[in-house]
Amino acid sequence: MALARGYAATDASKPLQPFSFERREPNDDDIVIDIKFSGICHSDIHQVRNEWGNSSYPMVPGHEIAGIVTAVGSKVTKFKVGDRAGVGCFVNSCTQCATRDLDLEHYMPGLIGTYNAFEADGVTPTYGGYSDSIVVKEGYALSIPENLPLDASAPLLCAGITLYSPLVHWKAGPGKKVAIVGMGGLGHMGVKLAHAMGADVTVLSQSLSKKEDGLKLGADHYYATSDAETFKTLAGTFDLILCTVSAEIDWNAYLGLLKVDGSLVLLGIPENAVPVHAFSLVPGRKNISGSMIGSIKETQEMLDFCGKHNIVSEIELIRMDQVNEAYERVIKSDVRYRFVIDMATL
Ligand code: NAP
Ligand code: ZN
Repeated sequence: MALARGYAATDASKPLQPFSFERREPNDDDIVIDIKFSGICHSDIHQVRNEWGNSSYPMVPGHEIAGIVTAVGSKVTKFKVGDRAGVGCFVNSCTQCATRDLDLEHYMPGLIGTYNAFEADGVTPTYGGYSDSIVVKEGYALSIPENLPLDASAPLLCAGITLYSPLVHWKAGPGKKVAIVGMGGLGHMGVKLAHAMGADVTVLSQSLSKKEDGLKLGADHYYATSDAETFKTLAGTFDLILCTVSAEIDWNAYLGLLKVDGSLVLLGIPENAVPVHAFSLVPGRKNISGSMIGSIKETQEMLDFCGKHNIVSEIELIRMDQVNEAYERVIKSDVRYRFVIDMATL
């Protein structure tokens, strides 16, 4: 076992603080990654604060991990020492069931989260990326294209794949009108990816304060949802609406923006049930759906797509000891557009 250092939450109400722990002994099919950068996802905050009711402590958050391979097991074929590697939201999954062949392992019960979970032995806690190293099965690590900066690539491992997967599934591309609700960590990646896929992209943000950025990142249109006129102007416009907001919003109003057969896809996870009127769906044969991250295969496809199109996240690089302040700023939507921790400052 190797001693690792990181930052952990010790309960739902306390700030994150320095924490030492042991990483498991690497197996033949494991790699060891020296973590260079770790993104801050809003899901980290939900879990640190037990907002999903399933938190266990101490918790080392972080599932947007980018680093360099420092050791490989004897059966490892995909990585060698010195390679760039990433880890996203899960580090293991059910290997028995056939759905792994369908690349849907992230929707199966055997999924093991990068943190706030237990390894396959059921007793060893998983600890995430706000730390100096991680041991992971090579099959759950991703290759980060050489042409992309490592720091700004970290958020691709969650924010990137969470937007890429539904854009591909619902066939965003030329001739499709796509709306992204919320210009945050997830949302700004959606703008870049949908634009690169050739879709006509609209941002629906609470205000116009980030309009200039949104247009620069690839949006064709930008509207404020605080303006009631927006919902009249855009009625019946979109093939696909990806909602990255986890707060309660007026779902029926957003469904009114879909074309016939259009889909509203929930990515953010509101605390309460989503009240939808039948009349918001029935007259236009509309759909409401959800989507969660993506498979390992699709995550690698996304990284390769980003390499080809030179897409990374817009980041604010911070020191490890700024993490608690960064959390407060994410909650206030005061982030442009993803905080990434420079692990050299740990
Ligand atoms: P984020 O950076 O905080 O972005 C969320 C954006 O939502 C904000 O920037 C803001 O955009 C908008 N927003 C915030 N509060 C709002 C409110 N009360 N009403 C309307 N809009 C509001 O968070 P994130 O990291 O992108 O994550 C977003 C959500 O997705 C979180 O709940 C996270 O847990 C979840 N998530 C889901 C998956 C998945 O697989 N489905 C993966 C990762 C994260 P504007 O300022 O532009 O309005
Ligand atoms: Zn995330």
